[in-house]
Amino acid sequence: MTAVTVIEQLHDHLLPLGLAGVDNNLETHLERAGRENPSYADFLLGLVAEETSFRKDKSLTGRIQQSRLPYVKTLEQFDFAFQPSIDKRQIQELQTLRFVHEAENVVFLGPPGVGKTHLSVALAMEAMKAGFSAHYSTAQDLVTDLGKAAREGKLAQKLKTYLRPKVLVIDEIGYLPLDELGATLLFQLVSTRYERGSILLTSNKSFADWGSIFNDTVLASAILDRLLHHATTVNIRGQSYRLKERKKAGLLSAPAIALEDSKPKN
Ligand code: ADP
Ligand code: MG
Repeated sequence: MTAVTVIEQLHDHLLPLGLAGVDNNLETHLERAGRENPSYADFLLGLVAEETSFRKDKSLTGRIQQSRLPYVKTLEQFDFAFQPSIDKRQIQELQTLRFVHEAENVVFLGPPGVGKTHLSVALAMEAMKAGFSAHYSTAQDLVTDLGKAAREGKLAQKLKTYLRPKVLVIDEIGYLPLDELGATLLFQLVSTRYERGSILLTSNKSFADWGSIFNDTVLASAILDRLLHHATTVNIRGQSYRLKERKKAGLLSAPAIALEDSKPKN
């Protein structure tokens, strides 16, 4: 009877003290202590470690939410056998996050569906697990957002959203051409982040075609110059994984598959 009262009192203390991790798992720890008879110090260490790991998980969840990733995918979920043009060792080197420490960039190039977004998201996840902040945006959303801020005279403030995170994913450059303001804003962002924070960038266009994305070859080469000075480029040549899944489901007719497969692999 008294034991219950003590446990209730403990719960009454734990939450106001901000010890939610211990509060959630108190009974489990007490039961284990009853079975295993640890020393007082070991028992206390178990509780404190519980709180630490709870806080780490919570702050990771917060970082993931703030990052605006379109989905959570990991490197473990990536099937390297399906995409042999990717050098797995290169991705493993990126997984060490040396590039984040050194504020280097990573560029994924390739046709749709080959895993560019998946790999960027997975590396951003790795960075967040290691305690770094990350932010995701498509190129289009980013320039729309910055353009709106520029018109409202709030550009400097808005730029911080994209400058502060240690890892910034800029997805899908090249699907839509950028107007002059968009191109200039992107240049400003890339120049300011240069050697300060990493950019993970994806594009379906080869670097040679960047002039047409920006409608300005000088600006395009100025952006590329900064982006690629310290960067790893991963060129993915292969089939769309989405297509593979549709093929498996039998949703595509044979000629359509043949057409897609015969696309130039650049
Ligand atoms: P991209 O950005 O290159 O157009 P995505 O990264 O969005 O392509 O990939 C499309 C879908 O296929 C996503 O759901 C992704 O998780 C999955 N996918 C792509 N490549 C692979 C792969 N090699 N292994 C596992 N899933 C993959
Ligand atoms: Mg994508």
